[in-house]
Amino acid sequence: MPGRSRLLLQRGQEGEGGALMKPKLGVFSFTSCEGCQLTILNLEDQMLDLLGAVEIVNFREAIDDRRNDYDVAFVEGSITTPEEVEEVQAIRGRAKILVAIGACATIGGINALKNRHDLATTKQKVYGDGARHFPSEPTRRVRDVVPVDYEMHGCPIDKIELVRVTKSLLLGQIPLPSEHALCTECKQRVNVCLYDKGICCIGPIVRSGCGAICPAFGEACVACRGFLSHPNIASMVEILKSKGLSRAEVEDRLTQFNSLTPVDLSPYYLS
Ligand code: SF4
Ligand code: SF4
Ligand code: SF4
Repeated sequence: MPGRSRLLLQRGQEGEGGALMKPKLGVFSFTSCEGCQLTILNLEDQMLDLLGAVEIVNFREAIDDRRNDYDVAFVEGSITTPEEVEEVQAIRGRAKILVAIGACATIGGINALKNRHDLATTKQKVYGDGARHFPSEPTRRVRDVVPVDYEMHGCPIDKIELVRVTKSLLLGQIPLPSEHALCTECKQRVNVCLYDKGICCIGPIVRSGCGAICPAFGEACVACRGFLSHPNIASMVEILKSKGLSRAEVEDRLTQFNSLTPVDLSPYYLS
């Protein structure tokens, strides 16, 4: 796991005067659609438990009075401007534990597609004549800028995982990231593999944790949770090629969310 060894939290630490203090949580957003923050707000059944276990002191979408004395920071979004670099460094400086939440923050996600193109041209297309007013930089993951203690993947993050990870942090533990392929969860759900329906899916090289929700509803996985640490790219590409996908189509599948983990397809397209 990228990041550094940090003081872990223990629920109910003693504060001044012996009073039990809840760990303080801050939720922050950088370049993103803010959908992962909404997942926190949509916790519904678990929200009261969360509020009983932590004190939320900074969360722009949820509270007006915000403070900077947080112990844990949940950080959503990619880092794409000099101002965001300064802000995330300040957050890292204050938080005992920093958790990157969602594909934008953990793998670059859709935001990183712009890194595949010339930045000046992209800015011109997006902002037109006003491009010079937008100090947009190539997209970076949070861990490219500051040390990160845990990465919660997905677009958006998964509610159940959010609760599980938060509980672990409160118990003073950093959970282990998943190293099982998405196909394992697909089989657990007794899904019929999409290949049996004539649909190509890159689940064999994708990190599990979402419950294989897309294949369960007939949609191919697009790797919003990122690739496994040691994905079998060669076999994956051979399968996609055997199903008739062109090199460009294979590249699109592999980069839609993962432009920051580029795959060199040259060895597989020698002729
Ligand atoms: S990971 Fe997806 S849902 Fe979360 S902020 Fe980024 S685009 Fe939105
Ligand atoms: S549908 Fe996708 S994730 Fe599910 S078993 Fe098939 S390849 Fe794996
Ligand atoms: S199935 Fe794939 S694309 Fe869908 S949520 Fe899971 S990891 Fe993301």
